[in-house]
This record gives sequence, C-alpha cells and structure tokens, in this order.
Amino acid sequence: MKIAIKDFCIRCGLCEDLYPELYRINYEKDAIDILVEEVPEELREKARKSVADCAVTAIYLVAK
Ligand code: SF4
Repeated sequence: MKIAIKDFCIRCGLCEDLYPELYRINYEKDAIDILVEEVPEELREKARKSVADCAVTAIYLVAK
C-alpha cells in the first residue's frame, strides 16, 4: 500500500497535524511530503483514516 495526494490538495496541514508519522508540509515546494514509501503494517490503519480525514479528500491509497 502506498499513499498518494491529488493536485487539488489545499495544503491545510490537517494530515500533518493528525498523522505526523505519515505527512509533513514542505514549505519550500508548497507540497505535502509523504514520509513512507510503502506504508508499514502498523501505520496502515492511520493511512486509511487519513483518507477520510483529509479536508478535500485529496489523499488516496494505491494498492500494490
Ligand atoms: S489534509 Fe488533505 S488537503 Fe489538507 S494538506 Fe493534507 S492532503 Fe492536503
């Protein structure tokens, strides 16, 4: 499982606030960095929740 973010992300920072293990705001690039390449087992539930919590549903999961 991988995490991806669609271009219409509004950079609100909610994902970083809720899931700092998975997301970090990259101010230089004006983008959200995804901190894991392949989501480890222990973070998968958080990854799924982050999809639901994103303000504009920009986060999605890509199955392997
Ligand atoms: S919560 Fe969604 S819209 Fe907000 S910064 Fe994260 S990916 Fe972008």
